[in-house]
Amino acid sequence: MRPAAIDKHPEAMRVKPNWPDSAEAAAGFSWQAAAHELARLPDGGLNLAHEAVDRHALGARCDHTALCILARDGGRQEVSYAQLSRLSNRFANVLQRLGLSVGDRLFVLCERGIELYLGVLGGLKNGCIVTPLFAAFGPEPLETRLRLGECRVLLTSRSLYRRKVAALRERLPALEQVLVYDGEGETTPVDGTLDLHRLLDEAPDDFEVVSCSEDTPSLLHFTSGTTGTPKGALHVHGAALMHYVTGKYALDLHPDDIYWCTADPGWVTGTSYGILAPLMLGVTSIVDAGDFDAARWYATLERERVSVWYTAPTAIRMLMRAGPELARRHAFPQLRFVASVGEPLNPEAVWWGQDVLGLPIHDNWWQTETGGIMIANTLAMPIKPGSMGKPLPGIEAAIVRVKDDGALEWLGDDQLGELALRQPWPGMFRTYLGQEARYQRCFVGDWYLSGDLARRDADGYYWFVGRSDDVIKSAGHLIGPFEVESALMEHPAVAEAAVIGKPDELLGERVKAFVALKAGFNPSDALRDELLGHARVRLGAVVAPKELDFLPALPRTRSGKILRRLIKARELGLPEGDTSTLENPV
Ligand code: ATP
Ligand code: MG
Repeated sequence: MRPAAIDKHPEAMRVKPNWPDSAEAAAGFSWQAAAHELARLPDGGLNLAHEAVDRHALGARCDHTALCILARDGGRQEVSYAQLSRLSNRFANVLQRLGLSVGDRLFVLCERGIELYLGVLGGLKNGCIVTPLFAAFGPEPLETRLRLGECRVLLTSRSLYRRKVAALRERLPALEQVLVYDGEGETTPVDGTLDLHRLLDEAPDDFEVVSCSEDTPSLLHFTSGTTGTPKGALHVHGAALMHYVTGKYALDLHPDDIYWCTADPGWVTGTSYGILAPLMLGVTSIVDAGDFDAARWYATLERERVSVWYTAPTAIRMLMRAGPELARRHAFPQLRFVASVGEPLNPEAVWWGQDVLGLPIHDNWWQTETGGIMIANTLAMPIKPGSMGKPLPGIEAAIVRVKDDGALEWLGDDQLGELALRQPWPGMFRTYLGQEARYQRCFVGDWYLSGDLARRDADGYYWFVGRSDDVIKSAGHLIGPFEVESALMEHPAVAEAAVIGKPDELLGERVKAFVALKAGFNPSDALRDELLGHARVRLGAVVAPKELDFLPALPRTRSGKILRRLIKARELGLPEGDTSTLENPV
């Protein structure tokens, strides 16, 4: 039987954690005091890109490696803070010459490579509102986002432009210029575009970074579309403080760390924690241009001596599916902290980390809207597998219920309710683009309602139960899909599981599970009975699924989240809704 919590004695930790996780430390934290750690511009203004790059480029760490870019074909490029500062300055100059200034919209549609980084950082330096887009999007989701975001300048590769954007151009009247570079080996000039590298070569190295306030818009990020049509969440330069503080306390970044965030900057994790936070803390970030591949990932962790790794449950489940033998061919003595975000992390995955990587995985919770990590299992605290951890310093969370009169009721320990956060915090979003009324509906007084259901235990740990849309009401009980899925995941045959509620005359809703199997297991009636039996023993007859189907793979968003609403729509024969972020056409 595995213990309910994994304790880490401080002596067992090689590096002293930045956050001691004591009541005293928590009480001593204030955003105001933390703000003194930001570099700021000479006139007292703020700019995310200055905090991320120039603060180091102008100081003793200028030659430290900021990015280590791993090409798909095995190539490797190191970029220092000084080089990244110069390149982003040049790009900011290019944007200025094209007539872009504060508040103008720049979209960056790039493979993971240097252009993506200089694009985002240069755009921020020039005060533009920047949207990094996922390069694997098809033309339709691209058009929706470029149109809604009123993109004026697009940075992309020749190949992506030709394949995905050229045909849309006439339908995007706001789009003035497209800057292209060679990507995926394609070098032929493209009509109607400007050559990025020629413009960069002509641009000066120096640029006076645009001085912004805490409230100046910075990044526009689209949500994952798990519950419906993706929303455009607008962020501000004041988020710098959030990125800095969470990079330091939740990810425990120290200046000599080699850090790898596996998320693509087309999703908020890949920007907040793949670009900004690690640079602010002065570490070396690994940027892998390749797609998921278990052998490549283990080799990268080992060869690059990654010390802090931030990844996602889907990736961990895929590594688990690939089997422990592959991992055992590698050693990770430098790895000292592993964290995960994006979906609930099944306890089985936490233990897998302990068994295979040598250390447990630390789950943390946040959303596109929050801009940064809110609730986390930090390095210093014992992990309770299956819990997302405790609110970070400076973050006040609560479990609430919205009463019929619209007021909030605060719920006590172990009660199920909606996870709410007290506003303001520095990284919070400022609107949903074009949907201000929807934004306003997220708040009741001082509290932001997350749309996620959770519980808090007597030790102050938060436990994710499900999205409010996904929770199943069966025979008078509220059942969170996560606990049912986690129980199924404990069975050796199960690689992935998703659970939905189906209308049922007697029960209200009936729990149904969908399961993808690990290699070496085949669907059969006997295995179905075994899995249903296993779930009944683990969960009891009320909560356990009554039905179970096998699927070759579960439908996921491109950011790696299981699309339960799509599984449900297909099961009930209803319209599929927005599938623009669907990754796998299963
Ligand atoms: P949309 O809002 O368009 O439906 P989305 O909510 O999936 O998409 P994101 O902002 O990328 O878009 O994801 C945030 C959500 O992901 C959270 O609200 C939560 O439901 C889920 N999530 C993130 N981290 C965790 C975690 N550690 N445990 C459980 N759920 C998590
Ligand atoms: Mg959401």
